[in-house]
Amino acid sequence: MADVAFQSQSSNSARRPFWIVCFEMASVIVFAALIILLAVRTTAAVIESKSWWVILPAAVMGYLSADFISGLVHWFGDTFFEEDSPLIGRMLIEPFREHHRDPKAMTRHGFLELNGNNCLAAIPLLSIAWLSAGPGESAVSIFAYSFLIFLSLASFGTNQFHKWAHTDAPSAIIKWLQRRNLILSPAAHSHHHRGDHSTGFCVTSGWMNQLLDPVKFFPRLELGIRALTGKRKQR
Ligand SMILES: [Zn+2]
Ligand SMILES: [Zn+2]
Repeated sequence: MADVAFQSQSSNSARRPFWIVCFEMASVIVFAALIILLAVRTTAAVIESKSWWVILPAAVMGYLSADFISGLVHWFGDTFFEEDSPLIGRMLIEPFREHHRDPKAMTRHGFLELNGNNCLAAIPLLSIAWLSAGPGESAVSIFAYSFLIFLSLASFGTNQFHKWAHTDAPSAIIKWLQRRNLILSPAAHSHHHRGDHSTGFCVTSGWMNQLLDPVKFFPRLELGIRALTGKRKQR
C-alpha cells in the first residue's frame, strides 16, 4: 500500500520545485492527522471492548506486511519499465535505478523528500478507514484498524530505515536497533547491493527476505509475469 514511490523523485533537492515541497509537506501533515485521529478512535474502542490482545498480533502483522510491500514495490521498480517510461518512469522507476547507481544519494535527501510520497500513498486508505467511522466493538474490526495503523507507520518508516542502512554514522539508538535487526541493518541490506540486485528487496526490517530469498520468490514472480506477458528481460 504505502511505498508507491519508495524514494524521492530527485537526487538534487536544490532544484526541486517549491510546489512539490509544499505538496509533500501537506501529505505528511494529512498523514499524521489521520493516523492520530484513527489511533485515538481505535484506542477508545480497545478500552471499551477490552480487546487488548489484538494489539500485538496487529503490530507484528503490520510490520511484516509493510516489509513485504516494500519488497514488492522495490522489486517492481527494479525489474519492469524504464526510467523514460511514460507516467511512472520518473516518479517510480528512476529513483530505484538511481539508487543502484548511487546508493548514498538517498542519505542526502531531506525529511520531506524522503517521506512525502509514502505519506501520500497511505492517505487514500487511511481516509477510507476514517470515513467508514470504525472500528466497531468486534475484535476483528479493532484488529483491522490496528493493523492499518501499524502498517502505515511501518511503511512511513521504510524509507527512513533504508536511508539509515546507507548512512555512514547513524546515531547510537539507530545502531542499537540495526544491531538487533529491529529495523533494516546495513549488513542485511548489503545483500541487495551486491551482484545483480536479485535478492534482499524488502527494506523495512528485511525480515521477509529470510522467507522470500531462499525460495527465489521475486525472480520466480518475474519469470511468471514475463511468461504471461511475453515481455523480455532488458537488463
Ligand atoms: Zn534495488
Ligand atoms: Zn539500498
